[in-house]
Amino acid sequence: MSDAPSYGFDTLQIHAGARPDPATGARQTPIYQTTAYVFRDAEHAAALFNLQEVGYIYSRLTNPTVAVLQERIATLEGGAGAVCCSSGHAAQIMALFPLMQPGMNVVASTRLYGGTVTQFSQTIKRFGWSATFVDFDDEAAVAAAIDDNTRAIFCESVANPGGYITDLDAISTIANDAGLPLIVDNTSATPYLCNPIKHGATLVVHSTTKYLTGNGTVTGGCVVDSGTFDWSASDKFPSLSAAEPAYHGLKFHETFGALAFTFHSIAIGLRDLGMTMNPQAAHYTLMGIETLSLRMERHVENASKISEWLETHPHVEAVTYAGLPSSPYYGRVDRICPKGAGALFTVTLKGGYDACVKMVDGLELFSHVANLGDTRSLIIHSASTTHRQLSAEQQEAAGAGPNVVRISIGTETAADLIADLDQALNAAHA
Ligand SMILES: *Cc1c(COP(=O)(O)O)cnc(C)c1O
Repeated sequence: MSDAPSYGFDTLQIHAGARPDPATGARQTPIYQTTAYVFRDAEHAAALFNLQEVGYIYSRLTNPTVAVLQERIATLEGGAGAVCCSSGHAAQIMALFPLMQPGMNVVASTRLYGGTVTQFSQTIKRFGWSATFVDFDDEAAVAAAIDDNTRAIFCESVANPGGYITDLDAISTIANDAGLPLIVDNTSATPYLCNPIKHGATLVVHSTTKYLTGNGTVTGGCVVDSGTFDWSASDKFPSLSAAEPAYHGLKFHETFGALAFTFHSIAIGLRDLGMTMNPQAAHYTLMGIETLSLRMERHVENASKISEWLETHPHVEAVTYAGLPSSPYYGRVDRICPKGAGALFTVTLKGGYDACVKMVDGLELFSHVANLGDTRSLIIHSASTTHRQLSAEQQEAAGAGPNVVRISIGTETAADLIADLDQALNAAHA
């Protein structure tokens, strides 16, 4: 399909990046289950290895099935290019890798997926990187946290677990003033509900494990590059602006322009870190993404109904859904995610830790799992699971205290979900 920008989202989620298979005419994108690709001749092989010609060498770097998914996600996000990887966490490392060096830091929001807090506060230290966590609602604090060694700003659009909405316009202005790229994790919102690039994001990362695949079958991740950041404006990003010894002194930004980050992520990132998405996983995600908008509409409709109902329940203390007028983030919905505030929120229960555990155990339709963004409704008690590694203060800051459960509303019949929640809440207080 030609990339006519006039096509609507519903069309692009089905067609972008795909064309009938040139060898067989197969209408659906084949799973190119191959590790290597035959070179036309020795000259062709040399040109590919020198990055003088774009083509397929080896599936650790590129694969035609994965390439369709990359182009589709890049199109839906409005980016110049994208690289898929083995998981959302791999995507986060892949996003930071070209930007960071030992001694450098990322300024990150306190409201993040629990696994990201652990990755950023512990694991990246092994690379000599660090993260400074700040409340992204406090714009002055974000600006103040930036120092000479900061190389990126990181937040989630609709933040896990509470469904908090980040003011991407305000944060991207701060990043821009500091000459730094803004990385936005758009997993919980998806490009259907939010387009971080339109709000100034440089890179968008995804756990495709969640809504993009939508059915809880495969793990995957993606980094989308807006193509708009000037990597050569300062000497802060030598991986992209300076000569690369492994490619005979090639400069990625000078050579590939808007695709510099994407080419670097494939030619250096995937080549040497090897966090590659396999074609089978890309196939499942391509199947899921075809119905993204339809599913997100139902997710949002159900989340709105159920959060409203929960808010009035006698055993519930509070509900964080940003689509509720009681949410402090309600005022940001129209600007940041006009088609809805997603389907992820937390519920604070009267009765504390014990009530949470009993309620989770008493549910029948909801599954108690460490996942979100499935067609099935899911629930988890964050404090005893995904946010267990965090200190009590970090749990509170992330909205995952001991009396809180996180709910990911699926696409089932809303009345059935309400009935299930009602019986479990009542049983937990019996
Ligand atoms: C799940 C998730 C991740 C991590 O993704 P994996 O695919 O599980 O590695 C990162 N960010 C957010 C917001 C997530 O929900």
